[in-house]
Amino acid sequence: MALIPYGKQHLSEQDYAAVLEVLKSDYLTQGPQVPAFEAAVAELTGAAHAVAVNSATSALHLACLALELGPGDRLWTSPITFVASANCGRYCGAEVDFVDIDPNTRNLCPKQLAKKLAQAAATHTLPKVLVVVHMAGASAPMAEIAALAKRYQVAIIEDASHAMGAHYQEAAVGGCQYSDISVFSFHPVKVVTAGEAGVATTQNATLAKALCQLRSHGITRDAEDCHAALPPWGYEQHALGMNYRLSDIHAALGRSQLTQLRSFIARRFALAERYHQALADLPVKRPVLDPESAWHLYLIELEHADTRRAVFEAMCAQGIGVNVHYIPVHTQPYYQALGFEPGDFPLAEQYYAGALTLPLYPDLTKQQQDTVIAALQKAIEDA
Ligand SMILES: *Cc1c(COP(=O)(O)O)cnc(C)c1O
Repeated sequence: MALIPYGKQHLSEQDYAAVLEVLKSDYLTQGPQVPAFEAAVAELTGAAHAVAVNSATSALHLACLALELGPGDRLWTSPITFVASANCGRYCGAEVDFVDIDPNTRNLCPKQLAKKLAQAAATHTLPKVLVVVHMAGASAPMAEIAALAKRYQVAIIEDASHAMGAHYQEAAVGGCQYSDISVFSFHPVKVVTAGEAGVATTQNATLAKALCQLRSHGITRDAEDCHAALPPWGYEQHALGMNYRLSDIHAALGRSQLTQLRSFIARRFALAERYHQALADLPVKRPVLDPESAWHLYLIELEHADTRRAVFEAMCAQGIGVNVHYIPVHTQPYYQALGFEPGDFPLAEQYYAGALTLPLYPDLTKQQQDTVIAALQKAIEDA
């Protein structure tokens, strides 16, 4: 690992103890920790229902299935995201398309969305599902996006993988005020971790029930739902579900981490403010200093995009783990094979050309941050 990686989990004695307790208990999976973890996420987000699974990728897949996305349907998302935001549509056999970004926020642009929806309505090619990504932890403009989605009857999944603990207009992201389902990731590089885990939140009881059933083989033991009276050992399979269950070991870690969420984000925001000041005179575009963001990533853009590779390599050579988020999804060979071409989403591609992610995590010290800033300055001068 780089001396200063771009992201890193913060674990404490409290987290170790939470995991150890599960290891010594009767249930490694399907015990009490998963519902407790789900209750903690529901409380934090204000959602009525939270369904925990083994990754955000699984949660996105189940969210699409719960919304009955299938062959012949379309899913749209942002090209500046991790591939999982688009792949969930492909898992369901749907066609995937993209909406270009707002270059200031790097989130899906509502104006581009409005234009594309109007065109799609005219050609009867409207999407069934829109996956809205909260890039780097700052919420997309959900009120505007939801108004458009409502007008054209498009369901919304928020890919809030970066945004646990973030707010939008003072409400916690994940409360689903403007969406059908929100999805969070607990991968170690994200704001809080469970090792691996994903959680889907929703206000809709029917969707919650579908998510629960689909995460465990499409099976139910709920007498109310069963076609026949069940024997004491009975269960019924009603749909083709997966095994996307989360273990109690992971859930206990996730739950313990959530109790530290506020301090993690406060620390991330303080570091983001320091970057913001320190980079003011460099030839870089800084991210909007959004106080409601979860600050999963600190994304800059080099004004001279042609120096990005040299800057990247110079920083890596000094043990500074810079990164790039993200390679536009439509330029991946898999999506090119489906017919997308470079140039299809020019704002996303323009952002990507100069994009660089600087280290940001709770344990990054001010001294380390100063090392990053000095190395960046020198790398830009030398490039
Ligand atoms: C990390 C990430 C995912 C996938 O999360 P996993 O928990 O690793 O499956 C999906 N979407 C975005 C935007 C992500 O950053």
